[in-house]
Amino acid sequence: MSTMSEDNNADRFIKESSILDEYSINWTQKLGAGISGPVRVCVKKSTQERLALKILIDRPKARNEVRLHMMCASHPNIVRILEVYANSVQFPHESSPRARLLIVMEMMEGGELFHRISQHRHFTEKMASQVTKQIAQALEHCHSLNIAHRDLKPENLLFKDNSLDAPVKLCDFGFAKIDQGDLMTPQFTPYYVAPQVLEAQRRHQKEKSGIIPTSPTPYTYNKSCDLWSLGVIIYVMLCGYPPFYSKHHSRTIPKDMRKKIMTGSFDFPEDEWSQISEMAKDIVRKLLKVKPEERLTIEGVLAHPWLNCTEALDNVLPSAQMMMDKAVVAGIQQAHAEQLASMRIQDLNVSLKPLSSVNNPILRKRKLLGTKPNDGFFINDPENGAEDSNVALEKLRDVIAQCILPQAGENEDEKLNEVMYEAWRFNRDCKLLRDGLQGLSWDGRAFSDKVDRLKLAEIVKQAIEEKTNLEDSQ
Ligand code: ADP
Repeated sequence: MSTMSEDNNADRFIKESSILDEYSINWTQKLGAGISGPVRVCVKKSTQERLALKILIDRPKARNEVRLHMMCASHPNIVRILEVYANSVQFPHESSPRARLLIVMEMMEGGELFHRISQHRHFTEKMASQVTKQIAQALEHCHSLNIAHRDLKPENLLFKDNSLDAPVKLCDFGFAKIDQGDLMTPQFTPYYVAPQVLEAQRRHQKEKSGIIPTSPTPYTYNKSCDLWSLGVIIYVMLCGYPPFYSKHHSRTIPKDMRKKIMTGSFDFPEDEWSQISEMAKDIVRKLLKVKPEERLTIEGVLAHPWLNCTEALDNVLPSAQMMMDKAVVAGIQQAHAEQLASMRIQDLNVSLKPLSSVNNPILRKRKLLGTKPNDGFFINDPENGAEDSNVALEKLRDVIAQCILPQAGENEDEKLNEVMYEAWRFNRDCKLLRDGLQGLSWDGRAFSDKVDRLKLAEIVKQAIEEKTNLEDSQ
């Protein structure tokens, strides 16, 4: 079976024939779920080989993911793409088929990084260093092609199989970007977010609200985010908990955690770290530097003694044990779910804008109530400049804003009902919205039960996407 080679022109490789000619799809088995839905199993009919299948709505963003993944995928530590189909697919709950991209990838039977670590009886520092080396090699390959992955986290690191020497590979290029050093939309997941992303976001907020002048050289964040994430992953692999703790679970980064990230305050508690080598602590320190320019580069990581030493490093790490603990696993799963939710919110094209320019009276009221300026963000789709021209879309955006803004005082549920009612009046024709709201106890005027705001934001986001797509194609 041929592997797709690196090529900028990924579209050429995308097949228009039906995937079902060559593969049978197992619709019941799910390998793992991410922001774009479950990854499934498919079998190549001619060889009976089991492969993984990721299905995305065919949009420019998805084509970009495929393109960047394909550009990187020839490396042994990056999940291979075997073929990509552009087919029209109708899922059971859908009333009509939709244009989708179906990405056939090599199957990673060994599962995700932390799950795998939890299965080890004796996960040693040497093993952690070997895993790190492979992740670093994958990153070096991406960075050498000027591609920043930007979503490096344990769920995106998969083992080929369950053997002891199974390679680990990087997947999911959904947030990857050609790194041109420009000011990019901050994309992040709490716990794995680099300080310059927060700094860029903070400056962006201030610039937008006119507090500081727009800087002549844009504040950038880039590949060094991947190195920060690598530092966090090494830390967790070694001790079983993350370096920047917050007691509060939240879909956005809580204040205390934000402060710790910004000041780089973490330590190596004796209980877990006394047996761990100085070399390991050294690489962590050099990766978790607050200033990106002081952080190790990927070449620096690969040359670091911890990845190249001949010492046994056979000390058994506490992380495997911690990850075996059901409560810890539950905690990790919860954090995982929150992180995914956070990512979905990040994906909404939230741009920061002073509340004074918001048209919606309810959101405007927050300003009068004295909501802090950095709470004053509002959904704005940068690609849709003519905001005011489309009231129906704007009303939907108001709902998302209401869902993701920090709860500012009492009557939040009432306010949500009000903005939702407004949006509903203008968007009754949207079936996706109608179906979604039905599942959330919407009676046409108000929600009769407590609403899951993240879920609602996501449904409304889908409605916006559908409406914008329809408009594009008209
Ligand atoms: P998303 O972009 O929706 O987050 P991912 O590409 O991250 O999707 O995949 C989601 C999950 O599916 C992964 O965390 C992993 O558990 C599983 N998965 C993805 N690709 C494969 C693969 N090639 N083999 C096995 N499992 C996979």
